[in-house]
Amino acid sequence: MAAVAEDEITSLRSLAEAEAACTRCPLYRDATQAVPGEGRVGASVMLVGEQPGDKEDIAGKPFVGPAGRVLDQGLQDAGIARDEAFVTNAVKHFKHEMRGKRRLHKRPNNYEIERCKIWLDQERDLVKPATIIALGVTAARSLTGKTVTIGKIRGKLLTMADGTRLVVTIHPSSLLRIEDEAERHAAYRSFVADLKAAAAVKPEPKARGRSR
Ligand code: SF4
Repeated sequence: MAAVAEDEITSLRSLAEAEAACTRCPLYRDATQAVPGEGRVGASVMLVGEQPGDKEDIAGKPFVGPAGRVLDQGLQDAGIARDEAFVTNAVKHFKHEMRGKRRLHKRPNNYEIERCKIWLDQERDLVKPATIIALGVTAARSLTGKTVTIGKIRGKLLTMADGTRLVVTIHPSSLLRIEDEAERHAAYRSFVADLKAAAAVKPEPKARGRSR
């Protein structure tokens, strides 16, 4: 697929085409396809995950696997309408390693996060959400430009350089790895509380000139 010049990106469709043609880092080589964000221009909330998982890589859609189901439930419990949320990832291709016939998730490194940030920035320019929710350390790293400790900043209302509000929380996939039921329920309640902190932000009309 031919590369799309940055100044030709004027819509989510042309952005998805640009992502599909991207070779800015090695991750495109072993993935099925780039997975663009999903939602509408003007959505008030943008949720940013880490990268597509195995199911998302095949479907070409973000958050359609088990973590997506946890996220959907969390959004519902936090009072965030799914169609008011734009859902995307910090990294658009699925990074994995083969273990037999299974494709096991591998966390993107800082180089890959930085190389892919251009597409997240474009999504922010087009969608212009009032609030961004960073799901996990990779999204937080991409959006803040530094390595953060989730436990220290989760649930706090932060302000980005362009005035967009930012709330950092865990990635919903981490809830799936908690075996103890009581512990998992407690962690889920904290996750929903973080989402509610983001839902409480009232969108303000603003003239945007994003600082990257
Ligand atoms: Fe490009 Fe991002 Fe895919 Fe790397 S992961 S090839 S930067 S779209």
